[in-house]
Amino acid sequence: MPKITPEQLAAEWRALLRRFQEPVPQRVRALVERHRDALASHFYEQLLQDPVASRIISHEQVKARLHDSMMRWLDSIFTVDPDADLQALIAQQIHIGEVHARVEVPVYLVLRGARHLKKKFHDLLEADPTLEGRQQFEAARLVSGLLDVAMEILSFAYAGSHDRNSRAAEAYRLFSVVQNVSTERERQRAALLDWENQLMFALAVGLEADQLPSIGTAEFGLWFRHKGAHAFLGAAETEFILQAMDRIDQALLPAFNRSQENNAQQRVQQLRELREQTKAIGFHLDTLFQQNSELEAGRDALTRLLNRKFLPVVFTKEVDYARERDASFAVLAIDVDHFKQVNDNYGHEAGDMVLQQVAVLISNNSRGGDYIFRLGGEEFLVLLVDVDSARALKAAEKLRRQIAEECFHLPLDRTLAVTISIGVAVYDSQPDYRQMLRRADAALYRAKNEGRNRVVLADD
Ligand code: GH3
Ligand code: MG
Ligand code: MG
Repeated sequence: MPKITPEQLAAEWRALLRRFQEPVPQRVRALVERHRDALASHFYEQLLQDPVASRIISHEQVKARLHDSMMRWLDSIFTVDPDADLQALIAQQIHIGEVHARVEVPVYLVLRGARHLKKKFHDLLEADPTLEGRQQFEAARLVSGLLDVAMEILSFAYAGSHDRNSRAAEAYRLFSVVQNVSTERERQRAALLDWENQLMFALAVGLEADQLPSIGTAEFGLWFRHKGAHAFLGAAETEFILQAMDRIDQALLPAFNRSQENNAQQRVQQLRELREQTKAIGFHLDTLFQQNSELEAGRDALTRLLNRKFLPVVFTKEVDYARERDASFAVLAIDVDHFKQVNDNYGHEAGDMVLQQVAVLISNNSRGGDYIFRLGGEEFLVLLVDVDSARALKAAEKLRRQIAEECFHLPLDRTLAVTISIGVAVYDSQPDYRQMLRRADAALYRAKNEGRNRVVLADD
């Protein structure tokens, strides 16, 4: 699909504005100025009647923030000058579309909101004494045109962003299939061996070909077809394993029937081929697990923590969960203090060792349901599920103290003391998780400014 550029969008917007002559644009601007409060109220009154919308936003949020941002949005849409630079306006619409995608506002709701706005506008225009016949009609066209072009950009940004989110969600699904890579690898290797043993036993006791255990229906085969092949989609090894399984079930196993009348030598040859195929499956399986065990699977290679690729999926999931069950969760933004000095004084390798030990301490301090990310460098992020601010602060304080008390080991048997600063933010019903991350970052920034080696709770 050829992509529309912001420049093209700006050009269309400008062309639309130029089609209308004064005093119509000016009257529309005046109308928006007079009635933006009523327009915003009408918009949210209508929207909150929808059960889906009322799950995503609350009356309190409308009062606290959304009503005002709607008024500002109306101002920005309806008061542009055709000669102005429209890029900022376009960027704003793209941003809104992306937020909608992140918060998972369905497109139909946005379009419904636009429909209610248009209706309200038309009512207001009809009652406007400053507009006469033809002007009223022109004003209605201008209003509809502007709302339509804004909606178009919003949906455009929404679709692109939504695709990206779905791809990340898909990656996460695959990642969770092989979440514990080393356990899964052992389990599947054992399952493959198990099938081979069963087959050898069946052959030894002289079962008929149609009674031999097929690999496709064995534990290993089922896992590989349903999960492994998806998790390792696109790899040559995956294709090989699928083909080898087919060859075993369709050619090698049926051949054992005929071989019973044949001589022992042929039978040995067939067994050998079976053994080769099974060994090759095991070998390719190992390769797949190895290739996918580190970065590709979403883990940071140095610390084995989650990398930032999964932030959107994990946070969207937890926001949904908290919204549905009225639960709470918290995020700790963690940064190692004066880490540059560790590298400068002891070398990069020592720095890496410190990072690994910090990662282990963070992991040991969290529960099974929590998520730990390494965002990059010496920055970590922990999502604590099911906690309120008191418990989150307690957990953060405990972690801070443990790190400060720990003796970090460096190469050449040297040791070092290290501290961290933590910013804590608690879920506050804001559906856009990035706001929460921003609050945690701001708190971390304060912790640094106030002297480091401390925990600061974000303001509400
Ligand atoms: P502050 O207390 O303000 O956080 O100071 P700081 O020195 O920790 O912060 P700054 O952001 O200035 O330095 C971070 C350093 O982390 C800079 C960079 O060399 C180092 N770094 C980033 N990634 C890695 C890594 O993977 N390994 C190692 N050893 N060092 C890293
Ligand atoms: Mg830093
Ligand atoms: Mg630092």
